[in-house]
Amino acid sequence: MLTIPFVLLVLAILVSLASVICHVALPSILRILDSVAPELRAQLLLFAAGAPWLIGASVLMSSLGDIFFGACDFGSACLWNEDPAGIRPESILAALPLLCATIFLCARAVRQRLISRRVLSAFDAASDLVADSAVRVIPNGAAFAFAGGGRVYVSSAIQDRLSPDQYRAVILHEQAHLRRRDGLTVSIARILAGSYVPPFRGRLLNALALANEQCCDAHAASFVGRDTVAAAILAVERMAAELVSGESRVIAGLPGFGDGFVAPRVRRLLNIEPPPPNFGIVRTGVVLTMLFAFLAGDVLYYLAMMILYPRL
Ligand SMILES: [Zn+2]
Repeated sequence: MLTIPFVLLVLAILVSLASVICHVALPSILRILDSVAPELRAQLLLFAAGAPWLIGASVLMSSLGDIFFGACDFGSACLWNEDPAGIRPESILAALPLLCATIFLCARAVRQRLISRRVLSAFDAASDLVADSAVRVIPNGAAFAFAGGGRVYVSSAIQDRLSPDQYRAVILHEQAHLRRRDGLTVSIARILAGSYVPPFRGRLLNALALANEQCCDAHAASFVGRDTVAAAILAVERMAAELVSGESRVIAGLPGFGDGFVAPRVRRLLNIEPPPPNFGIVRTGVVLTMLFAFLAGDVLYYLAMMILYPRL
């Protein structure tokens, strides 16, 4: 009889094994995705963050699902044939890094959420405009603009010192963050990417953050023009350097306007025509990944069983 802790242990080991493959593939995937349009790139990077979980879960489901096709009768790769009582106790160690990382990242996400709630209510209390306004101006000399709780928050310094078109670009950019729900997707990606070790995890999450910023820049540019958005980015960066030198401008983990990536954002905006999305490469990559997951499924399953059982 299978137990839930046993199934979760197998899942954790499968995800850990799948993450080894994903670590090997990640540098090439990031290079290929560089030439893809930001909207599609952001989706594929979120998919890449969750890829070890997806591969692990699909191998687990197929090893459980085999019972419906009678494959378990032949003793093939089928979890129903395994005995949870016979596992090697130290095999739990193989699942420990993933388990610790996931618990730590979930706890951090909850803490971040609580902090951002407190920050937003403090900013609500300090804002100048009426309570139901979707854009709130905070009387503050620092250069910040961010999106959270369904609203855009912007410092009075940005409102005062940017041209009306640049200010509009900042607001449109932040509204795009709200519409795309970037705060939520980045929080999910941070937890999913816990199956990657730090340098890889950082590169993946940075690439996702840049893709999100470029999506929002493109949205703003469709209203006020690419040059205006690029000028707004540079103006906010210059103000931030003058006003809050050395201070972090990311507010409570919420997506903002001056979160960095200045050079790649401006470069993309000022390109006369951004490179067309390379759908051919992406499609081939997705097909190869699926084919690989299908062919490697049994190998991953047998590797997990080797870790779990002393007899193998
Ligand atoms: Zn942004």
